[in-house]
Amino acid sequence: MRKPAWLRSHLAREALQTEVAFRKVKTALRTGALHTVCEEARCPNLHSCWNAGTATFMILGDRCTRSCRFCAVTPGRPLAPDPEEPERVAEAARAMGLRYVVVTSVARDDLPDGGAGQFAATIRALRSKIPGVGVEVLTPDFGGDPAALRMVLEARPDVFNHNVETVRRLTPSVRAKATYERSLWVLREAKRLRPEIPTKSSLMVGLGESWEELIETMDDLRASGVDILTIGQYLRPSRRQLPVARYYAPEEFERLREEGLRRGFAHVEAGPLVRSSYHAREQATAAGAV
Ligand code: SF4
Ligand code: SF4
Repeated sequence: MRKPAWLRSHLAREALQTEVAFRKVKTALRTGALHTVCEEARCPNLHSCWNAGTATFMILGDRCTRSCRFCAVTPGRPLAPDPEEPERVAEAARAMGLRYVVVTSVARDDLPDGGAGQFAATIRALRSKIPGVGVEVLTPDFGGDPAALRMVLEARPDVFNHNVETVRRLTPSVRAKATYERSLWVLREAKRLRPEIPTKSSLMVGLGESWEELIETMDDLRASGVDILTIGQYLRPSRRQLPVARYYAPEEFERLREEGLRRGFAHVEAGPLVRSSYHAREQATAAGAV
């Protein structure tokens, strides 16, 4: 499906800007031999985020044990976790001058703790290297393992994020190894274990869901205690992923934002290029999380 003109021109403008800050981000990442979801997921905001001096770290390798049908991350067997990676993330974040850091990972269904220990170690390394830093984690579902979830929360991230990604009906065809109910459980359990830590989730639109299903998902997220919601347009990263079923207009995103606020989310960010980690610090600030 052809992208609408306003989206094409925005993406073209994005790709043109390359600033000093962009090079600083790239150098810090390459020096630390680190991965970002910005690159691995082919995020359309890469230029604007890196030009603003920020990026989202993707720990635990660049091979994922799952293969969600919207995602550009390479599926396959990952390497063993690198015990020095947390330090390198912290060092890169310090070199980039970050005051708010978002850390995510591939799904590591091959590890007994699902990678929770590496998340906890990364949060601690960031706190020790950058006093006063804000840390947001965007985690996989850890296969629904309560001990893994607890391990991450005990390291006290400022925001705990887990993405439901799509509506209940489409989850089996979009995230085959995940379940909608398990994702809601992760968010509910995080809130139950650490009520003081704001929780966040993200939805993509344009995969074939109905408006009513989007509203139902918002209700499910609120019933699970989620504080911050982001909603963005699904963009097909390559021909290997699912096609776009529909492009939403900017006014529809505004209506979704209003619906979300009416339902009681502390903050809703909605727009064609909104991604979970887009302006994450501003989202957390608006929700009173940092
Ligand atoms: Fe990276 Fe997130 Fe920005 Fe995309 S929105 S470029 S993933 S920081
Ligand atoms: Fe992508 Fe799914 Fe793996 Fe996350 S779990 S990195 S969305 S394939």
